[in-house]
Amino acid sequence: MRYFDHNATTPLAQAARSAWLEAADRHWHNPSSLYREAGLASQALERARENLADLLEAEPERLIFTSGATESNNTVFAGLARCLAPDAVVALSAIEHPSVREAAIAWLGRGRVRFIPVDGEGLVRPAALETCLREHQPALVSVMAANNECGALQPWPELLQICRARGVRFHCDAAQWLGKLPSAGLGKCDYLTGSAHKFGGPKGMGFLLVADAAERFPLLHGGPQEAGRRAGTENYPAVAAMIAALHDAERLSSKIAKDQTNWRDASAARLQRALPGLRVISASAPRLWNTLLVVMPRHSSLKWLTRLSWRGFAVSTGSACSSGREGSSVVLHALGAEPDELRRVLRFSGGWQTTEEDWQALADALLATAGELDNGASPAGTTA
Ligand code: PMP
Repeated sequence: MRYFDHNATTPLAQAARSAWLEAADRHWHNPSSLYREAGLASQALERARENLADLLEAEPERLIFTSGATESNNTVFAGLARCLAPDAVVALSAIEHPSVREAAIAWLGRGRVRFIPVDGEGLVRPAALETCLREHQPALVSVMAANNECGALQPWPELLQICRARGVRFHCDAAQWLGKLPSAGLGKCDYLTGSAHKFGGPKGMGFLLVADAAERFPLLHGGPQEAGRRAGTENYPAVAAMIAALHDAERLSSKIAKDQTNWRDASAARLQRALPGLRVISASAPRLWNTLLVVMPRHSSLKWLTRLSWRGFAVSTGSACSSGREGSSVVLHALGAEPDELRRVLRFSGGWQTTEEDWQALADALLATAGELDNGASPAGTTA
C-alpha cells in the first residue's frame, strides 16, 4: 500500500521501536516505587523530560507527559474552567482541531468561546488576532502551529508576541508541526500540545507544556505522578520512544523537506492541468511539506477514496478525525466553501519515507480513477 495519510497517524519509526524495547526491558519498574530499580526508572524519565524540554527550549518542570494531543488539549481547557473568572472567554482560530474546539466548548460552555477568522489561505492574520483581542479580551488564545487538513503554517511566533504584549496566554497545538519542522522555540508558547503518533512515535503518548509549573489542575485525578498534574503510572517506554522518534523525524525532515515539497507540487500541478477545476487549498500559504488538500472538480470524496483504496492508495477525506465522513472539513467550512464542494474534499499526506515515485503514482491513480468515474466504469480489477 502507498500510504498518504500521515496526518492521521504514522507508522512506528525504527528508532522509536528500538528505544521502546530498550526502555521496556531495562526500566519497566514503576518510577514511583522506592527500590533502586524504580529509582533508575524515575531518573530515566526525568532525563527524558529534560531532553524533550531542551529540544523545545522550555523548562523541564513545565512538561507533563500525557496520552496524546486530545488529552493535552482537554487538560488546558479543563484547567481554565477551574481557574478563570466565570465570565472570562477564550479565543480559538476557526480551524482548530476538534480536540481544541470541542474541548473548549465542553469545559467552558459555548458562550465563552470566540473564534478568530482565517483568511482565504487558511491563515490567522496578526490583524485578525489584534481585532479579536480588542473586541473580546480573551484570557487565552489558541492557534495551532500547522493545520492538519490543509497543512497551512500559522504565524505562531508573531501571534505569540502579540499575545505576550497584551498579557494574554497563548496555547499552540503543534501536533502536526512537530517532527516535520524544527521544534526549537515552540517552548516559548505558554501551553504547547504534542502527540507522538504524528511523527513516528507510539500511539497513546503525548505531552503538554504548561505556563506555570506550579499550577495544579489535573484532568486525571489520583496518584501524585507528574508533580500532581496527571495521575497514573508513567509510561516511560512510550516517553523514550516518543523522544527518539522526534529527534529522528526532525533530523530527517530538514534533509527531505525541499524535495518532498517539489514532488508534491509537481503532482498537484499535473492534476490541475489534467482535471480543470481541481482546487488546491492553501496553495499560496506556507505549508507543511507533506500535505496536499484538494477539492476535486467532480464526484464525491468517498467515491475517490474507495477507488484509490482498491488501487492500493490510502488517502483521507479532509480531517483525520472525520475520515469516512463526507462534508466535515473544518478548513473548508472556515473558508466558506459551498456544501457541494465540501463533499469533494481529499487530503493526501505523505511521510518521511514517501518517494517521488509514490507522488507520481498517486497522480497516475487519480487520473485513472477520474476516467473510470467519468465513464461510470467498474473499478480496475473488479467485475461489479
Ligand atoms: N490536534 C491536531 C492538530 C491533530 O491533527 C490531531 C490528530 N488528528 C489531534 C490534535 C489529536 O491527536 P491525538 O490522536 O494524539 O489525540
